[in-house]
Amino acid sequence: MVINMAPGFSEEQLQHIIQRVKECGFQPHVTRGTERAIVAAVGSGGNRSALEALQAAAGVDSVVPIAHPFKLVSRQTRSERTRVMVGDVCIGGEEAVVIAGPCSVESREQLLATAQGVKAAGATLLRGGAYKPRTSPYDFQGLGMEALKLLREVREETGLPVVTEVMSTADIDLISEYADMLQVGARNMQNYDLLRQLSKTRIPILLKRGPSATVKEWLLAAEYLLAGGNQNVVLCERGIKTFETETRNTLDLAAVALARELSHLPVIADPSHGTGRRDLIPQASRAALAIGADGLIIEVHPCPERAWSDGAQSLNLDEFARLMRNLSAPIRAVASSIGVEAVTKAERLNGHSVYSV
Ligand code: PEP
Ligand code: MN
Repeated sequence: MVINMAPGFSEEQLQHIIQRVKECGFQPHVTRGTERAIVAAVGSGGNRSALEALQAAAGVDSVVPIAHPFKLVSRQTRSERTRVMVGDVCIGGEEAVVIAGPCSVESREQLLATAQGVKAAGATLLRGGAYKPRTSPYDFQGLGMEALKLLREVREETGLPVVTEVMSTADIDLISEYADMLQVGARNMQNYDLLRQLSKTRIPILLKRGPSATVKEWLLAAEYLLAGGNQNVVLCERGIKTFETETRNTLDLAAVALARELSHLPVIADPSHGTGRRDLIPQASRAALAIGADGLIIEVHPCPERAWSDGAQSLNLDEFARLMRNLSAPIRAVASSIGVEAVTKAERLNGHSVYSV
C-alpha cells in the first residue's frame, strides 16, 4: 500500500504514519517531494485493513494499493524520476548519457586509446570488462585484477568514471574500490545473493535485463536492490532471446518505454549486445533515444577485428565519433495527407482545431 500525505502535512503527522505502518507489520519507505510525501508500506503478513484505516489519519490524502509486485521501483511510490550520479555524471537527468568502451579490458594501450577516443567524441563514462561472463569456458574470461588496475589508471588519466561487471559476491568489495558503477550482467540478473549483497552498498548499479526475463522479472530484480537500501539503480535493456537468428538478440525497445512508464528508475539501452551487429548500432542507438532511453552503452574497440571479445558488435573510434555526431539529428519528416488548407477548413467547420490536443 502507499500512503500519500496531503499537501501541507506536518512532520509530526508523517512520523505518526511511519510509526503506525511499523505497528501494522510493514516496513515504511518514505519518499519526500517538495510539497508531498509518500510512505510505501512494504512486506507481507502485516495487517492490511489496519493500514487502510490510516485513510482517516490527520495529514493523509489517500491510501491506495500498489498495483504491481514491484513496490519501491514503481512510479506509484515515487512520482519524480530518479537521477543516479556516477562520479559527477548524472544518469536520468535532462541529457542522455553515453557509456562507451571495450567489451573486455585487454591492455593499457587498448584501454587508454579507447577511453581517449570515446571521450573526445563525447562519451562521459567508460566501460570495460575485467571479469567476463562467457558462454564457453574456453573463451577469454577477462584479465581480472590486472584489468581493474588499468581501469583505475585510465580513469585517473582521462577523468572518465568507470563501469565494470561484478559476477560474484566475493568480488564486490574489491571491484567497488576500482570502479564507479558496477554492472550486473544479463546472466546474473536473477542472482539474488548478488543482488542482496549489492543492495547493502550505495555504489551505483547498472542492472541489465536477463535475455529471457520479462519486464516484471527485471523490475523485481531491481526491487531487491532498492528493498535492501540501494536506490542508485539504472536499468539496461540489452536484447532478449527470440526466434530471430540474424541478430544476436532482439533489442526490445518497447521495454525501454514500458520500464520508464512503470518505474522511476533511469533506463538505458545497449545496442551492441541488443543487435550483435556493428552495422545496426547507429540506427538502434537513435531509435532507443527516440523512444525515451536515458542513455546508451556501446562497445568500442580501436581495432574491432582484433578484439578478444565481442568484436563483431564493437565500433571503431571513427565509427563511434560519427555515431555521436548523428545521435541528435532529427528523425525523418512524416508525409501528411492533411495540408494546412485542410486544417484551416476543419477549424472553420468545428470552431476549433483537431490538433488542439
Ligand atoms: C557485456 O557488457 O560485455 C556483457 C557481457 O553484457 P550482457 O550481460 O548484457 O551480456
Ligand atoms: Mn560484451
